[in-house]
Amino acid sequence: MIYLDHNATTAPSHAVLQAMAQAMAQHWANASSQHAPGQEARRCLVQARQQAAQALGCKPAELVFTSGATESNHLAVRGLLAGAPVGRRRVLFSQVEHSAHLALARSLAAQGVSVGWLPVRPDGALDLGAAAELINPEVALVSLMAANNETGVLMPLAEVAALTRRAGALLHTDATQWLGKLPFRFDDCAADAVSFSAHKFHGPKGVGGLLLRQGLAFHSPLPGSQERGRRGGTENLPAIVGLATALSQLGDAGAVTAEARRQAALRDALEQGLAQALPELQVWGQGLARLPGTSYLRVGLLAADTVLQRLARLGVAASSGAACSSGGSQPSHVLSAMGVPREQALAALRLSLGRDSTADDVSAVLQGLPPLLVPLLHEAQACH
Ligand code: PMP
Repeated sequence: MIYLDHNATTAPSHAVLQAMAQAMAQHWANASSQHAPGQEARRCLVQARQQAAQALGCKPAELVFTSGATESNHLAVRGLLAGAPVGRRRVLFSQVEHSAHLALARSLAAQGVSVGWLPVRPDGALDLGAAAELINPEVALVSLMAANNETGVLMPLAEVAALTRRAGALLHTDATQWLGKLPFRFDDCAADAVSFSAHKFHGPKGVGGLLLRQGLAFHSPLPGSQERGRRGGTENLPAIVGLATALSQLGDAGAVTAEARRQAALRDALEQGLAQALPELQVWGQGLARLPGTSYLRVGLLAADTVLQRLARLGVAASSGAACSSGGSQPSHVLSAMGVPREQALAALRLSLGRDSTADDVSAVLQGLPPLLVPLLHEAQACH
């Protein structure tokens, strides 16, 4: 199988599986219990937090373990909004946030919170001019993803942070797709709060984190005695150990950059090869700063499902976009926000490479796919 869906999820590494199995067997006790096994579990938790914090460039106290990015996003927005000064009740989201995050925005709006939208340009980049106008002193919080999960386009966090700072607002970023693919350190990051999920970088599913800058006013919507009152619930220790192991395995910034360059070269070869064989190819986000392994494209107006079936015949697993919304007949909200016509959006295909992708994977797609698609393109032309 050739796996080209790394933006949806990644396989847990061997080291992650081993560390988790050991933690599950040895540290099953509740880390809040006062007895000896509980205290051992607590030591394991403290160690995992330190390991993760070191890899993330944050203080251990700034890291809140959660069940994944969806929860981290909820905690961040609801918790920071509740902590915001009276008079600041407006929250801005970009139009291209993850679908679960947009659902949160809509539910906040239904509850009477003032919600505004930061638009993107037709190429998928954030419209900074519009952002500058929208980020005013009524705004409590801006939530802008670091990198889009479909197009891979990177968002201008530093520029938006300058705008939020000037307006006295806070900036939260969903860095779920960034982390593991590009170098990251919280102490270098422009955002006040950062969400991420371990399964995007070869850790387990169902665990993630929220980084909260020290001193922020944060009123958790899920309070409890754990995580310094910021997230209640017995800690999922094996998963947390898996997360910390996966983070450590990323290596330092140099190692992450080298791997990003390798993936970008493979991705560029894939796009160039496909463009040569299929003149009807359009790649979204090309030419913009984007995630190294992400290619978001369409082959003429061939329906994504049709192309995915052909890829499946070649043993390639890919997707038509975000895993949570793919398989439907609705065009991607990201492409809609970019103004892409519906028939083009329904042809969208996301090929996302990762750490285990090889030049042979790319060659297999370049050799196998065009011969399967060219007859379909001819048929489509004949029909018009
Ligand atoms: N945000 C982004 C940008 C994502 O890509 C994803 C995963 N598809 C999520 C949030 C949600 O992550 P999780 O399912 O781990 O909660």
